[in-house]
Amino acid sequence: MNKKLQKPKGTRDLIGKTYEQRKAFLTFAENRAEMYGFSGIETPIFEHTEVFMKGVGEETDIVSKEMYRFKTAGGDDLTLRPEGTASVMRSYIENGMISDTQPKRFYYDGFYFRHEKPQKGRYRQFTQFGVEVMGAKNPAYDALVIQLGYDILKKGIPHIIVEINELGTQEEREAYLAVLRSYYEEHKEKLPKEDRERSITNPLRVLDSKDEQTKEVNEHAPKLEDYFSEESKRYFNEVIRMLDTLSIPYRINPRLVRGIDYYEHTVFEYKLDDGETDIAFGGGGRYDGLAEILGYHESVPSIGMAIGVERAIEWSGNDAYSKEEKEKVYICAEEESLFPIMLSILQENTKHDVTFYPEFSIRKAKKHFERAEKLGFSKLLLVKSEDELELRNLETRESNTLTRDGYRDFLKS
Ligand code: AMP
Repeated sequence: MNKKLQKPKGTRDLIGKTYEQRKAFLTFAENRAEMYGFSGIETPIFEHTEVFMKGVGEETDIVSKEMYRFKTAGGDDLTLRPEGTASVMRSYIENGMISDTQPKRFYYDGFYFRHEKPQKGRYRQFTQFGVEVMGAKNPAYDALVIQLGYDILKKGIPHIIVEINELGTQEEREAYLAVLRSYYEEHKEKLPKEDRERSITNPLRVLDSKDEQTKEVNEHAPKLEDYFSEESKRYFNEVIRMLDTLSIPYRINPRLVRGIDYYEHTVFEYKLDDGETDIAFGGGGRYDGLAEILGYHESVPSIGMAIGVERAIEWSGNDAYSKEEKEKVYICAEEESLFPIMLSILQENTKHDVTFYPEFSIRKAKKHFERAEKLGFSKLLLVKSEDELELRNLETRESNTLTRDGYRDFLKS
């Protein structure tokens, strides 16, 4: 084999800053979700394939083209998760959570896998941060989920706007789809091949087509809103009213359908509002029928959203999500016999904002100072004896002598 040792296409090694930024984003998002009353859930990275086939939908791009699907030696048909909602719903059903106090409110994050063409902001292994509210149908929960995602993204990306649309109920949509299919059937000679095929399998996606000819056909296509009941209209208006109250910028986009089958009523995406870049940082919607699609005997009305973490970081000021700077202390000694004291100082530290970088090489103090400066530290702690420490500020070059007990008290305070 003559191939260079390299990672698979569309994946990344997270090292140094890229590792720190991802971690800081997730910590920020998790804390925010907890502040909004959500608690964490973690499901396996792979599921039985049918969870996604049924849950996401066989005709979607995700299932038909992008899944990392594999058979085990024992014959199980498994798939690396391409998204989070179907797995969380599988877990809700399997663990009988319907008998808990409703609704359940979850947040989660981790790696997801889609076999897509890699480009900026699009990877084959990527990170999502998501939330789900399961077991309630109330426009306030739709607003809560939209607000939480907006709140998280806004911290790093100032010009975020929510694109939102109403899809109606499954029944309303079925009635509309029948009309839409026959409309496309009438105009099929004007559609490019891919859209012609989609107009049969997944006509809502054709409405969202970027193709110029299809766009023309779409101008006179029947409109979904003409098939809504009063109840569906009222639901959507309530969600919008809450976004108004919260001063969350939004744009109603009747073409927004999203690529996943299980949505109904509210769907939304977080977009950049700079008038030129068409990019989604995340999105979500209501999926009251998903539990039944997965084979459960009753419906579990639910709403959720997921954010693409790499994209959010790439488009935000790089350190927008970083925590406050920690005090980073280079700790060293001139003699090997003092290394155990260095280790015990690390062990005694209960301060989360002080981190140590132990250097177990034997050098003279001056050489340690130079090395620590070169590595970018601002503080250095030199262990001089069992009870004598020198704390040096490498920026001002001032040193203080401390007793071991005095420093121990500082680390425990
Ligand atoms: P989706 O579940 O497809 O709506 O995805 C939610 C968000 O995840 C998108 O808006 C993107 O920000 C992000 N995302 C989806 N696919 C990828 C990918 N292949 N690479 C990076 N981010 C992605």
